[in-house]
Amino acid sequence: MSLSSTAAPCWSQFTGAAGPSSLAAIIQCFATANLFFLNDLLLGSSINHDSDEFDFIIIGAGSAGSVVANRLSEIEDWNILLLEAGGDPPITSDIPGLQTLLYGSKHDWQYKTVNNGITSQGLKDGSVGWTKGKMLGGSSSINALAYVPGNTQDYQNWYDAGNEEWSVEDVQRCFKKLESLQNKKMLQDPNIKDVYGHNGPLIINRYNHTLRTYTDHVIESWDKIGFKRVSDLKAANFLGSGIITATATNGVRQSTNKAYLQPIKDRSNLVIMKDTLVTKILINDTALSAYGVEVEKNGEKKVYYASKEIILSAGSVSSPQLLMLSGVGPKEHLESYNIETLVDSPMVGQNLQDHALLPITIYANAPGEQSLLELTGEVLKYITKREGYLAQSSIITDGAAFYSTIENATFPNIQNHLTIINKNNILLKSVLQVAFHYNDAVVDSITNLNKNHALYFFENILLHPYSKGNIALQSNDPKDAPLIYANYFDDSRDLDVAVAGIKMATKILDTPYFKKINAFLGSMDVPECNEYELDSEDYWRCICINLVTSIFHPMGSCKMGSDISTSVVNSRLQVHGVNNLRVIDAGVFPSTISGNINGACIMVGERGSELIKEDYNKE
Ligand SMILES: Cc1cc2nc3c(=O)[nH]c(=O)nc-3n(C[C@H](O)[C@H](O)[C@H](O)COP(=O)(O)OP(=O)(O)OC[C@H]3O[C@@H](n4cnc5c(N)ncnc54)[C@H](O)[C@@H]3O)c2cc1C
Repeated sequence: MSLSSTAAPCWSQFTGAAGPSSLAAIIQCFATANLFFLNDLLLGSSINHDSDEFDFIIIGAGSAGSVVANRLSEIEDWNILLLEAGGDPPITSDIPGLQTLLYGSKHDWQYKTVNNGITSQGLKDGSVGWTKGKMLGGSSSINALAYVPGNTQDYQNWYDAGNEEWSVEDVQRCFKKLESLQNKKMLQDPNIKDVYGHNGPLIINRYNHTLRTYTDHVIESWDKIGFKRVSDLKAANFLGSGIITATATNGVRQSTNKAYLQPIKDRSNLVIMKDTLVTKILINDTALSAYGVEVEKNGEKKVYYASKEIILSAGSVSSPQLLMLSGVGPKEHLESYNIETLVDSPMVGQNLQDHALLPITIYANAPGEQSLLELTGEVLKYITKREGYLAQSSIITDGAAFYSTIENATFPNIQNHLTIINKNNILLKSVLQVAFHYNDAVVDSITNLNKNHALYFFENILLHPYSKGNIALQSNDPKDAPLIYANYFDDSRDLDVAVAGIKMATKILDTPYFKKINAFLGSMDVPECNEYELDSEDYWRCICINLVTSIFHPMGSCKMGSDISTSVVNSRLQVHGVNNLRVIDAGVFPSTISGNINGACIMVGERGSELIKEDYNKE
């Protein structure tokens, strides 16, 4: 496609009224014409696969599944089949700032939680959008790129719960195995350099972004209210405030597709089959051994067989759904959908946890407004230098704080992410609608105040909620999304922690920088909360209940543990009661971790692959 033929439609957008749709159209236009000059390789389509028999079949090419495919295919005499419901990620996945363009698209499973009539009533339909990646790389191809391995206590908790393969040492070793730190400044500091790995497949770096001055002011202000500023959050065990690292380098996303699949696309013992929905795991009903999978591709049904094992890496929503569709799950529930129970496994789909997100909106004089022309200039800045807004996530900056509502704690229970929005930002409305699903009244109250003020949107995240939800079947049709009961604030202790965390965070209004920019707390229009005084404890309790949404970290729905009455898989990730079947994804987390969970999913992929190799003496 020639530059002249594609440039015309792009530039014609400048003449229209300034609006998010026109900017999005311009960006799309550049992306479609591949004027970002990113070299996406398409995987899989050219690989021949005559046989329907493999040693291992992996279901799901997401954060964990891609790792498992890479590590198992290192063994040359093993044949591996990797099945993925989605296709190749589009070019918009590579560009961090275009992340939200993928939400609600065919690359997103577009899950939604069940409206319980109590929480999230300030969201459209009272239901929380659980975006999940449906493409190679899975959710690592759509996420906000924050790289946060978590606090060592998280993994001590896993180990102390009886999961003996998950000592802190093993976990840390696997994190280093996956990492390749490539930030020159960080590498110059031995205290930072030594806590990261340097030769792993996944490049870790910092964003190239434009809001450094403002983010620095916020971190300085966090420091003043007791969230101690640290030079590196991983080195500080994720307690304090600072700049997070990202799964991005030189302004380009590093998904597990890029890091783990693209480099091995020519391995002859690996078949990657895209656009292939796994509809059932076949389990022999007497030996209770998994031996194959049923799939649907282009409307055609087919069966593939595994002589050694099937690895379920479909993520914490689909993995329990597939187990249940295959006869492994709570007996009564399966019977109610006429599914024969092969293994009565009561915890399948239970123990679901998520990091709840609660908003704080602070408005101020700076930063000022950006014109549509300046915003469009961001596209050129990205093309020429890989810098600017497009080089960072569109929903978070790289400033973050980890702290506890308990005095002198060494383990955080709250994380603050931050988004800084210029005054009168034309994209704010669509981001609030698409990423957070707030209803029109809430969106209008936030955008109206943004017309004359910059917005500091703090995302308060509950790191270790006590509340637990569950995944249930909606029907026995694999194409029907399962029912997601998130149960945010089901345990009242979570509300206490959330409100205490918010009260600690809003102290930032009293710091010199926020005073200097005339900062004030904005009110969000939720009818149930409008009677309460702004910033009062009652106001925040009401806001938390009505505006709770997700930072997209569902985990724990196929919990790891010692027996079938309390968990789904054992410490080696083998499904209790079924031979030759493991789960390796966020579902196996026995408890929550202190931060964004993509890194931990990749680590689980690494550790899970080691355990498989050990079991076949292939270390
Ligand atoms: C919008 C968003 C923002 C996020 N931001 C961050 C962040 O900034 N930092 C961070 O650390 N974490 C973030 N996360 C969370 C993190 O990316 C996920 O928790 C992690 O990627 C999950 O890994 P997984 O391997 O469990 O599942 P996934 O990566 O979701 O992979 C599951 C794969 O299985 C496929 N699949 C599912 N069912 C089937 C089937 N029946 N047949 C075939 N294939 C199937 C899916 O298409 C998908 O590719 C975010 C997530 C989202 C969605």
